[in-house]
Amino acid sequence: MEINNFIKTIMENDLKEGRVNEIITRFPPEPNAYLHIGHARAIITNFELADAMGGKTNLRFDDTNPVKEDQEFVDGIIYDLAWLGYKPENIFYGSDYFEKTYEKAILLIKKGLAYVDDLSQEEISKYRGTLNEPGKNSPSRDRSIEENLRLFEEMKEGKYADGKKTLRAKIDMAHPNINMRDPVMYRIIHINHHRQGNKWCIFPMYDFAHPLQDAFEGITHSLCSLEYDNHRILYDWFVEKCEMEHTPHQYEFGRLNITNTIMSKRYLRQLVDAKKVSGYDDPRMPTLCGLRRRGFTPSSIKSFILGTGLSRVNSTVPADELDEALRNDLKLVAIRPNAIIDPIKVIVDNYPEDKIEYFDCPNNQENEELGSRKISFSKEVYIQRDDFVEEKPNKKWKRLALGVEVRLMHAYFIKANSVEYDKDGNVSVIHATYDPETKSGTGFDARKPNGNIHYVDAKTAIKAEFRLFEPLMLDETEENKDLDFMERLNPNSYQVVNGYVEESLKDTKEFDHFQFIRNGYFCTDKDSNDDLKVFNRTCSLKSSFKIEK
Ligand code: ATP
Ligand code: MG
Repeated sequence: MEINNFIKTIMENDLKEGRVNEIITRFPPEPNAYLHIGHARAIITNFELADAMGGKTNLRFDDTNPVKEDQEFVDGIIYDLAWLGYKPENIFYGSDYFEKTYEKAILLIKKGLAYVDDLSQEEISKYRGTLNEPGKNSPSRDRSIEENLRLFEEMKEGKYADGKKTLRAKIDMAHPNINMRDPVMYRIIHINHHRQGNKWCIFPMYDFAHPLQDAFEGITHSLCSLEYDNHRILYDWFVEKCEMEHTPHQYEFGRLNITNTIMSKRYLRQLVDAKKVSGYDDPRMPTLCGLRRRGFTPSSIKSFILGTGLSRVNSTVPADELDEALRNDLKLVAIRPNAIIDPIKVIVDNYPEDKIEYFDCPNNQENEELGSRKISFSKEVYIQRDDFVEEKPNKKWKRLALGVEVRLMHAYFIKANSVEYDKDGNVSVIHATYDPETKSGTGFDARKPNGNIHYVDAKTAIKAEFRLFEPLMLDETEENKDLDFMERLNPNSYQVVNGYVEESLKDTKEFDHFQFIRNGYFCTDKDSNDDLKVFNRTCSLKSSFKIEK
């Protein structure tokens, strides 16, 4: 799928009319958490657009707020980007521009466009005014340029405690756009920065740092989500007043939201910290590492994102569309081994004790190119509990029941004759007989079975754990709509069911993808070992919704 949206049109016109010679974009994550699928929209938009225009994209860590940043997240982001298939032209760090950014702050002070303020953060907010009322000038606003230079130097040298002073742009305290009411450019934080150590105790704010970083790098189109819309005027002000050689422009697009999915880093971090999930890579998390562990592929994520389109409004997309993208991606390429979730044992009473036979089984019925493999059959096999009822309920029941004959796929017809129960009264064993005449591949057509069901041979079966998921969040209802998201968590979001898989999966590795008959798409989890294979269900086989065209 090729990228096509309103920003592409802008870029094409800019190239055609000679406003830019080349398209250069950047993806600017703050390294304070792992990336989520909302970020995938920003990544794919930046990289695909630049690529379609013959341009380039930088990865730039927006690491100017040292309080929450960490090397673990830097590494995670680099890994996720590569996994999605994107190679940045450069990897830059906002903090590497601290010196140059500082010099631009000095320039603004010298031009009388910035001042050191003594107001506290609360006072600054109070002085800011509201949408209907203008703000008030700070008593520090008319300091001389010399005094401002001296105080800013002292701020940098560590003479003041956190929050004691700020550097602010001198714009207009009555501006209709509140962002223009003397925004803070620098604040004091005495802290160790993950790359700069103790070199700095003043840190530039996003609104000041970001446009300068874009300009230093020669970014032509600075793409961001819609909430920065009313910061654009300030972005342009800083680029102009700082006399930047290069003039980048900001363009906004709508954020991606997904139904029943928490999409803010802050909340994802809360889930991890409160141990509501096993980590950022819990398969229920909308993080890229979580989706990867769950079994989503880079191409499914990419086609999902491109399929959602891009406009200047935020959108909420049904979670099932991502599942549908995965199904389309894997349908013809995933092998379809036999796996039995929630098994019942079937003993084929008339089959010889020590005998074992092997049958040929296509790897993917819809794609012959994937070849075939051998599956074994012997006296005891497992079938799914939900493939059996004692009494056939109606004509529609096309599975096993007492007195009824079905084909075990690729093997024989079997007929269920009696059952054994466990102490709770559940069926524990089905006794059956097979008909040797009905061997698969012999063209036997004297009678029709009451359906085809899959099985795993007990002699060669490998124990398996299947992890099944529901959305982390419950559907919104009248009762829960005002609850905090932590109280709207779905208690059934994680379920574990045991069973068996066929022996061909004995060497399966983390991230192998499969389609298990009737049960869905699954992916091998890193918790697997020699005795127990663990599979995460990526999604079911059928969509529960209809895409409206
Ligand atoms: P969050 O709101 O989850 O904390 P953020 O916007 O603070 O995310 P950043 O690391 O600053 O996260 O984001 C990097 C880029 O990704 C930004 O350009 C941001 O606009 C974009 N982005 C983040 N979330 C989404 C989303 N849901 N849809 C589209 N773009 C997004
Ligand atoms: Mg942000």
